[in-house]
Amino acid sequence: MSRISDVFAFEAFDSRGTPTVAATVITDDDCQGTALVPSGASVGSQEAVELRDGDVKRLQGRGVESAVAAITEEIRPALLGRDVDQQSEIDETLCDLDGTDNKHRIGANAILGVSLANAHAAAQSSRVPLYKHINALVQNPSMTLPIPQLNVLNGGAHANNNVDIQEFMVIPAGLSDFQSALRCAAEIFYELKQLLNARGLSTSVGDEGGFAPDLPSNDEALEFLLTAVDNAHWESGCDVYLGLDCAATEFFDDGYYVLNGQNKKLTPQQWIEEVKALLQRFPAIVSIEDGIHETDYLSWQQLNELVGSQIQLVGDDLFVTNADLLRKGIEDKLANSILVKLNQIGTLSETLEVIKLAKDNGFGTVISHRSGDTEDTTIADLAVGTGAGQIKTGSMSRSERVAKYNRLLQIELELEEPVYAGTLRLPWR
Ligand code: PGA
Ligand code: ZN
Repeated sequence: MSRISDVFAFEAFDSRGTPTVAATVITDDDCQGTALVPSGASVGSQEAVELRDGDVKRLQGRGVESAVAAITEEIRPALLGRDVDQQSEIDETLCDLDGTDNKHRIGANAILGVSLANAHAAAQSSRVPLYKHINALVQNPSMTLPIPQLNVLNGGAHANNNVDIQEFMVIPAGLSDFQSALRCAAEIFYELKQLLNARGLSTSVGDEGGFAPDLPSNDEALEFLLTAVDNAHWESGCDVYLGLDCAATEFFDDGYYVLNGQNKKLTPQQWIEEVKALLQRFPAIVSIEDGIHETDYLSWQQLNELVGSQIQLVGDDLFVTNADLLRKGIEDKLANSILVKLNQIGTLSETLEVIKLAKDNGFGTVISHRSGDTEDTTIADLAVGTGAGQIKTGSMSRSERVAKYNRLLQIELELEEPVYAGTLRLPWR
C-alpha cells in the first residue's frame, strides 16, 4: 500500500493565459502525480464552481491563489497518510471538506486538481499507465481508442465571427485504427486551410485550434468542410462524418433562438425545424451537441423524438457531467449521449459514476477538453480506460489540443491489441 506523504499546488496558466490550478500528490514510495485543471468559456449554469480570487488588481480577478491555499491548508492535512489506491474515498473526503452542493467553498478547481493528481500518483505507484489504472477502477470494461471529434471550424463564443454555431467538427469514424483516423483529420485540416487561404479568408485559429474565418452562415461553414474532405480524397458519410456543437444556450434569449449571423429570431419550434432542415441538407452530420438551450427540456424531448434514432444528440450544458441531471435526462428521453468534462463535476470518481450510468443506459459517452486547456493529457487516458468510445479535444493545431491526440497515438502503440472504437458499432446507428 502506498500512502500520501505530501500534497502541494501552484498557480499555473492555461491556453488562454488564464490562471489555473496545478496540483501534485506525492507518496511514501516516492511516486508522484501532477494534474492541471481546464476551464470553460461557455459554462453550463449547473457546473461545479471554479474558485477565482476576484481581486481585480491581480490578474483581472482571475487568480486562483485561494484555491491553491485551500489545497495546502485544508486538503493536504486531510489527505496525509491516506492510501492512494482508495480513489473514491479520497474523492469523498474532498467533497465532504468542501461541504457544498456545487463545490463553491474550496472550489471544483482545487478539488479536481488533487483528485486527478492522486489518480496519477496511484497509477505510478502500481507501475501501470493511467489508462490501465482507470480501467481497473471501473472494473475492466473493454478498452478502446476513442473516435475523435475534431473541432476544425469555430464560431459562437469561441470566435469573433458571424457564425452562431460554436463548433464544426470532423469525425473520422470510418477508419480502421486511431492513427489512420488522425491522419485523415489532419489531411482535411490542411485542405481546409488551403481553401480558406484561396478565398482570402483568415486562417488564424480560435481557442480550440480550429479556424475562425468570417463566414456568412452555418451552411457556408459546412460546405467548406465537405469540400475540404473531398479535396483530401476522403469520403464524407463513409470515412468521415460531421458533427456540430451548437452551444445553443449561448444564443438563446428570452424564449427565442437568436441567430445574429443570419438575422433570425426563432421560436423553439422554428429552431427545431431549422435543425431538421440542416440535417436534410447535410446528411453527413451524425452528431449534434447542445442543439437546444440547457433548460428548454421540451425542445430537447422533441428534437430527440424527431431525429434521435438517426443521429447522436449530446448533452453538454444540459447534463454538466452530473449523475442526477443525467438520470433525469434518461427518464425524460432528452438526448441519447453525454459530453463528459471532469471539471463540470469536480472529481474523478463522480465522473466515472456518470460514465457508467450513461453506458448502462445505452447513452453515448464523449470525453471532452475545455476551451481553456493545458498540456495535461488525463482525458486521453480517461477515454481509453473507460472505453468511452469518443473524445472531443479540439483541432489539429495548438499543442494543448494535439497533446491529447499524441497521447492516444502512444497508447495505441502500447496496447497489445488496440481496438479503434470506429470499427465497432457506431454510436449514431
Ligand atoms: P467550453 O466549450 O469549454 O468553453 O465550455 C466547450 C464545449 O462547449 O463543448
Ligand atoms: Zn459543448
